[in-house]
Amino acid sequence: MIFGHLPAGYITSKLLFKKFEARTSFYKAFMFWGMLGAIAPDVDLFYYYMIDVYKHSHHTYLTHFPFFWLTLLLLSVLWLLLSKNRDQNPAFAFIFAINGLIHMFLDTFTGNIFWLAPFLNTPFSFVSLDLEYNSWGLNYFTHWAFLLELFIILWAVFLRFRKS
Ligand SMILES: [Zn+2]
Repeated sequence: MIFGHLPAGYITSKLLFKKFEARTSFYKAFMFWGMLGAIAPDVDLFYYYMIDVYKHSHHTYLTHFPFFWLTLLLLSVLWLLLSKNRDQNPAFAFIFAINGLIHMFLDTFTGNIFWLAPFLNTPFSFVSLDLEYNSWGLNYFTHWAFLLELFIILWAVFLRFRKS
């Protein structure tokens, strides 16, 4: 997934903010950490282009292992449980990690994700990755998974402008 990650991070963070209001009244910081987590896995694209030079799919890097994000999420939950109610940092860690994990889930709609890595190197995708057209753009924009991406974007826009 390309365009849906940031709006997905916006949606999750906005919907979960109420749950953490007692810890942090700092809405913008909470949203910042959430949206950063939503796109953080793709920082590996820099490594892919600059150092690995297209040798391996960036989905084979640690930053795209669901196990990595699940570990961060569990650690953040542990931190939440052990910390005082007034401490806002564990809330930021939690929203960052959960959005990273959602990124893994969303990427599974548009490509292969190694859900059991590093234990088993089996790629998995919700969609068949047979390409119908020769052009990457046509394949991407005509795939039904792109509707999911559009839906996420529209949902985020709706939440942003909804009168509450
Ligand atoms: Zn990704």
